[in-house]
Amino acid sequence: MENCTKCGNPKIVIKRKQSGQTLCKDCFIESIQKKAIKTIKKEKLLEKGDKVLVALSGGKDSVTLLDILDNFRQRNIIDICAVTVDEGIGGYRQDGVDIAIHHAERLGIEHKIVSFQESYGISLDEIMKNHKARGSCTYCGVFRRWIINRVARDFEATKIATGHNLDDETQAILMNYLEGNIDNLTKIGPVTDSKSPLFTPKIKPLREIPEKEIGLYVVAKDLKVHFAACPYSQESFRGEIGEIIKDLSKNHPTIMYSTLSGFDKIKKALKNEYKSEFKFEKCSICGEPSSNEICRACVFLDELDRKVIL
Ligand code: SF4
Ligand code: ZN
Repeated sequence: MENCTKCGNPKIVIKRKQSGQTLCKDCFIESIQKKAIKTIKKEKLLEKGDKVLVALSGGKDSVTLLDILDNFRQRNIIDICAVTVDEGIGGYRQDGVDIAIHHAERLGIEHKIVSFQESYGISLDEIMKNHKARGSCTYCGVFRRWIINRVARDFEATKIATGHNLDDETQAILMNYLEGNIDNLTKIGPVTDSKSPLFTPKIKPLREIPEKEIGLYVVAKDLKVHFAACPYSQESFRGEIGEIIKDLSKNHPTIMYSTLSGFDKIKKALKNEYKSEFKFEKCSICGEPSSNEICRACVFLDELDRKVIL
């Protein structure tokens, strides 16, 4: 029987294949918090006085993110507010919304729930039933980002924090590489920023923590989360890539870490080489920041015969 590598406790909850480390519950919880704090410090993700809008879906990643950021709030370093986007996915989203409400109330933070229906007059289910020009996650991602960006301005937030984990980041790297989407590749990183005053910088404090360990963290801390998978997730290319990475990780447990650290090393050179001619404009329809005259949300809505409800 192995004991906790840190404190010797015989009751271990994890054996990390990549490092051989075994940890008990308390040391595991501490290790996750330390890892996120290390990313926050290394990448300078937070500044004193920040008002951070947490994109809170109620899933394990966003609930863990909120839990970790709350330590900074309790020490009066930052303020936190939250937004939950209701895409209108029958049999799935409502449970997440309820859990998001539970955590926002528990911590006493400002919280907004905004639906696709009230923003665009159409739910994701309705889009996928009647129009299949694009994949569900393409619509979902563009429409969700539009809402979160807007809510960030309403709340006067200085940062938007998302729960992207190590699996998400490596999937994004591989996916965009395989698709030859260099422009998207240059945007992957711990911070997404822009010179536009309409755009709130996005930060990813959990990007170096594997999804599996986040799952274990919420169980270890007894945090209420929505564990179900989105019914559309299987349809996506990201889902396929995720399966490939999971398979590879069985025999190569460090592969996600090396993919991310390798990418982080070449990112700067990639950015310099492929600097896109980026002139920031306001979308001529909705007024949101856009690199084109009309933003992607408005282009998609036009295809669906809808308009942003302002
Ligand atoms: Fe949206 Fe796709 Fe995520 Fe489902 S899996 S919530 S459709 S981005
Ligand atoms: Zn627009």
